[in-house]
Amino acid sequence: MKRFEILMLPGDGIGQEISLEAEKILGWLDINTKLKLDITKSDVGGKSIDDHGEPLTHKVLNKALSADAILLGAVGGPKWEKLPFDIRPERGLLKLRKELDLYANYRPAIVFESLKDSSSLKGEIISGLDIMIIRELTSGIYFGEPRGIKNISENVKEGFNTLRYNTDEIKRIALIAFEVARKRKKKLCSVDKANVLESTELWREIVTETSEFFPDVSLSHMYVDNASMQLVKNPNQFDVIVTTNMFGDILSDCAAMLTGSLGMLPSASIGSINKITKNKYAMYEPVHGSAPDISGKNIANPLAMIQSVGMMLEYSFNLASFNKLILKSINKVLEKGFRTQDISNNSNHTVSTSDMGDLVIEELNKSKNEKI
Ligand code: NAD
Repeated sequence: MKRFEILMLPGDGIGQEISLEAEKILGWLDINTKLKLDITKSDVGGKSIDDHGEPLTHKVLNKALSADAILLGAVGGPKWEKLPFDIRPERGLLKLRKELDLYANYRPAIVFESLKDSSSLKGEIISGLDIMIIRELTSGIYFGEPRGIKNISENVKEGFNTLRYNTDEIKRIALIAFEVARKRKKKLCSVDKANVLESTELWREIVTETSEFFPDVSLSHMYVDNASMQLVKNPNQFDVIVTTNMFGDILSDCAAMLTGSLGMLPSASIGSINKITKNKYAMYEPVHGSAPDISGKNIANPLAMIQSVGMMLEYSFNLASFNKLILKSINKVLEKGFRTQDISNNSNHTVSTSDMGDLVIEELNKSKNEKI
């Protein structure tokens, strides 16, 4: 089996703790399967600012450009909040996304049956939930120029951003979304605000045009305000959702809470073909941030990070069976009642971050004899 190079960027806060659990899984795979993994660890975010003066050094960017996949923990924290905007930890992450052209962000929201009572919604509404939000990640209002804050009169300032999408940017994310929908339930919902924003009127037009190449996928359109309501009212009506950068940011956090905790949600960001590795550029990370309120206490939930490893195996290394195995092991741990604090209630065994990683390994060991 091929040898893969993985760049690990644990980052800040709980990013450091959950990355150790991801490493346990990678170590297990290296020992117990034919998969061979070369892992390099580097700094990003606040840790990189402290040690190297910037949130992402050229050296680390170059490593990222030649890796088969990147696993990132989280960046940011109160320590760096007062720094100028362009050298804050989050800039390191945005730079990685931009330089690797990671335009397609996959955010699955899966409800593990044993966790359906952790959601703030009723169990019957979220039971069996398995949706995939595909968010455009490198364009739209977070990157549009001009942007800034200017004085428009002596006492009045104006903050402004630009929402801009062109045909190519929409088409490439639409193609990804249709491909993903085709492999699932063949149902795609495109979310926009075409009634008031011209950029998303164009979005709707191009997504509709692209649908001609996918006659087997049924396409619907929904305004973002309605989509946020429908996600809470009846989330199971969705299978794959495709949307813009900002709408995807908001909707995926909303979907996150359907699953019970931010600590349960992985993500993949995938880009164009890397000429060095011949694979697509790809970065995998939990949806959550560095959680400064719980960092250093060994209580963070590592399952979003561990699921991110699973997504890497499926999307970058074409090993969907290994992702299934990881999900199955997580499910078994949860079925036995083990929970980190964020998803725990009185009837569970509350375990630490490192215990949770060990429990997943224990289940993986039990499945060793199964064909994978
Ligand atoms: P956050 O996601 O870090 O935390 C929100 C809440 O969820 C907190 O109460 C936290 O304790 C909890 N939480 C998050 N992940 C958890 C986990 N794995 N297990 C248990 N509980 C968990 O968001 P925030 O507090 O708004 O941001 C904190 C810092 O993280 C900020 O500096 C922000 O800019 C940064 N951030 C980074 C990323 C990223 O690296 N991709 C994403 C979001 C926020």
